Amino acid sequence: MQPNPSRKNGWLYFQLKSSEISGSSEYSGLPYSCIPSIEPFMKASTLIPVTPLPSAKKDLSPTPAYQRRFHVMAKPAGAQCNLDCDYCFYLHKEDLLQQPKKPVMDDATLERFIANYIDSQDGEEIVFSWQGGEPTLMGLDFYKKVVALQKKYQPQGVRIENDLQTNGVLLNDKWCEFLAENNFLVGISIDGPRELHDKCRKMRSGKPTFDKVMAAIDCMKRHGVRFNVLAVINRYNAKYPLEVYRFLTREVGATYVQFTPCVEPKDFTTTAPQFWSESMIPVQDSPRCKPGHPLSVVHDWSVDADDWGEFLKVTFEEWVNNDMGRVLVNLFETAVAQTLGKPAQICATAEFCGKGAAVEHDGKVYSCDHYVYPEYELANIHDMSLADMVISDRQKAFGLGKRNTLPKQCKKCHFLRLCWGECPKNRLLKTKDGEPGLNYLCSGMHAFYQYAAPMLVGIATLVKQGKLPLARQ
Ligand code: SF4
Ligand code: SF4
Repeated sequence: MQPNPSRKNGWLYFQLKSSEISGSSEYSGLPYSCIPSIEPFMKASTLIPVTPLPSAKKDLSPTPAYQRRFHVMAKPAGAQCNLDCDYCFYLHKEDLLQQPKKPVMDDATLERFIANYIDSQDGEEIVFSWQGGEPTLMGLDFYKKVVALQKKYQPQGVRIENDLQTNGVLLNDKWCEFLAENNFLVGISIDGPRELHDKCRKMRSGKPTFDKVMAAIDCMKRHGVRFNVLAVINRYNAKYPLEVYRFLTREVGATYVQFTPCVEPKDFTTTAPQFWSESMIPVQDSPRCKPGHPLSVVHDWSVDADDWGEFLKVTFEEWVNNDMGRVLVNLFETAVAQTLGKPAQICATAEFCGKGAAVEHDGKVYSCDHYVYPEYELANIHDMSLADMVISDRQKAFGLGKRNTLPKQCKKCHFLRLCWGECPKNRLLKTKDGEPGLNYLCSGMHAFYQYAAPMLVGIATLVKQGKLPLARQ
């Protein structure tokens, strides 16, 4: 097959059908384990740095192989939010972390964070991510301060980027002017067409939010704000994969889509991940693994693992047939990259964790955005540098734990190198032989990889042959 790309708006378009791709691969029919080992690439990408820090002893080894690069999500408004989405994993942290009613990052903490985050890295680009709760609750003046401080501390030759994850409710012309002028990349949360979006994403008053989010998207488009969409795939919208995918890519016009599976253990507001009582952990395929069961391990709105697999299969097929090269879907891009032997693009499918910490409004830093629990607090940025926290033994152990605590079922899994047991916060099950640490989404992930593997190797073959670039040109 000779793909014949056409170019439009800076994107390459391919007229490919999933059936042609799976038939074209030189790897087709081979077991996945025949694909060259990707381990060296994974290690290079996911281990934390390793350029010595000023506090380290003199390093006499040859030039360090890696640069210091890591990522911190900032939560300047803590868990505060103007919505009350059914599935929000962060809102309840207000109580857990004993946050004040209206937590805000003060000027001293903000300046310390910006200066230290910049100083702790030596790549050519530093990315600040502003998240929540809802980060726009800090007001526009806060982000004007952010930009001014970034300029103050910006080293020569280093690019500073900002991204902002928002529910969009507060975005208006003033916000969008600022975001466009300062080149923020906005991630906007939208779960699909009106009925599916409004099912879970509500104002605190219970009113729907769809119209407000769509107005925010229009406003961003008018002002030329760069944006992508984040859809939380829950028990309800998971049943409508094509409706969700087509709405986001065709009606909203998103060219970068992040799908996040909603997995919310019933006791997540009080119990940190991996601190679950072992006797409460259900065995894979038992009734308690399903949302909706009275004794389920997860809340009702969590996605059913099998529906998640089906959602990925259907949207992957649609993406391959119509959008590859034009629309980036986080889970599919990473699967292709990993098949090619390149680093995972998202932490959930990487071999290790640990490169993405979270800083709360009061300067406390946690191992990960999903591990903002007292048990996973690293230190406060007023007391320790971020770089030292990120290379601390504790954070390294956290990062390595993703691979080192995998149950035998994962270690033997055909798709280990694509999945790596997915995110540890979702490892809520025991395997059938009683070993804890299996991912709640396992059955869905496995079904998806089984279905997609021949196409993935086909795509990888075409990319290797230079016939199918996936990234934006
Ligand atoms: S715990 Fe999950 S979200 Fe956090 S870094 Fe690991 S894979 Fe990513
Ligand atoms: S598909 Fe299941 S068994 Fe395989 S690596 Fe992923 S979670 Fe483990």
